[in-house]
Amino acid sequence: MINETHHSSLLSWVASANTPEAEFPIQNLPFCVFRNAGSSEPFRVGVAIGDAIVAPTALGALPGIDPIAREASLACAAPSLNRLMALGPLRWRALRLALSQGLREGSPARATLEPTLIKISQAEFDLPARIGDFTDMYTSIDHAINVGRLFRPDNPLMPNFKWLPCGYHARVSSIGISGQRFVRPTGQLMPPGAVTPIVAPTRRLDYELELAIWIGTGNALGEPIALDAADQHVFGFGLLNDWSARDIQAWEYQPLGPLLSKNFATTVSPWVVTTEALEPFRVAWHRAPDEPQPVGYLESSANRGQGAFDIGLEAWLLTEQMAAAGSRPHRLSATSFRHNYWTVGQMVAHHTVNGCNLCPGDLIGSGTQSGPGPGESGALIEITEGGKRPVALENGESRTFLADGDTVIFRGRAQRAGFRGIGFGECVGTVLPARS
Ligand code: CA
Repeated sequence: MINETHHSSLLSWVASANTPEAEFPIQNLPFCVFRNAGSSEPFRVGVAIGDAIVAPTALGALPGIDPIAREASLACAAPSLNRLMALGPLRWRALRLALSQGLREGSPARATLEPTLIKISQAEFDLPARIGDFTDMYTSIDHAINVGRLFRPDNPLMPNFKWLPCGYHARVSSIGISGQRFVRPTGQLMPPGAVTPIVAPTRRLDYELELAIWIGTGNALGEPIALDAADQHVFGFGLLNDWSARDIQAWEYQPLGPLLSKNFATTVSPWVVTTEALEPFRVAWHRAPDEPQPVGYLESSANRGQGAFDIGLEAWLLTEQMAAAGSRPHRLSATSFRHNYWTVGQMVAHHTVNGCNLCPGDLIGSGTQSGPGPGESGALIEITEGGKRPVALENGESRTFLADGDTVIFRGRAQRAGFRGIGFGECVGTVLPARS
């Protein structure tokens, strides 16, 4: 699946794409929905290159362009990625190749594409897609054990965890783009030792470090997506913060799962890094011989061979005091998606094994990403062991859970020797005080 668009030697006529630390080199080409900041112009589809955004629709005017790439470029004349997502991998690949060729050093397409560039710093973003449905998974075994141990020390892992990728149907209306600022939620809490709940702002506000999985082509109702076909339905990946109110969650979650502890806000990054851009970062997926082996629809040799992705993920905290002092954010954790117990393909195959239909623009959260080592926990409830071990910050502040004014920043980057590293940009969200 590696092709000429992945070659590490490729350089762009957009010079900022060619530095070693660039998040958006020509090998990445992530999609977004953007407009000039502060304008009232309609949002439109863009592609990042270096520190700028290019309009893929401009490719349609190039003489001699591959007709399939042209069709895909015209699907970008829209305020969301849904039309492009629905076209499927043949057209996604053609568009990526045309973008790669047009943005390469020396390309005659420069004259057509360069006038469409705007700086990322001068853009504002909308959600990449019109999201019909949002499913949030629970698929990191390290997260499940670390959190489960707090509630059930003798039995941290539910018996189904090793047999199926757990998930629940989540809320779309409160999903916001990076930069989202949301009010601390109020709800029912059962204080320790109490017998009746109180109504109060959450005291245990947390984040969850997740990947956003964006569905491209869907499936017909009643027709499952086979494991080995699943990647053909995944358009790409971003970062996702599943903000969580742990005290509201602890009181409400049985028997039907989280509701108000999660549905007040979810933040996603503006960039969708395509599945094709991530091909060099595929890795083998393992299931130890003494663990339950996947049942039929969750098992394939291709999934074992290269079903996982090595995507580095980081969570950072910037408190209001740190921001006022001009301090750098504090890194809370760093891990990789390669540790996940289930692959994205297995999540998609499981989601549809009963015939459930996925649609272009559907969003799947990977579940909180925690790794096996110290410093790899993707939520404060794990890092602080349920609030018992505060995190000390460089400026003398400390945190068990999030305070008003706190900003949480996620970053992602995929790297492998012999290939250009590619970045995910940032997913940023800020906690505002509760309504009084
Ligand atoms: Ca979650």
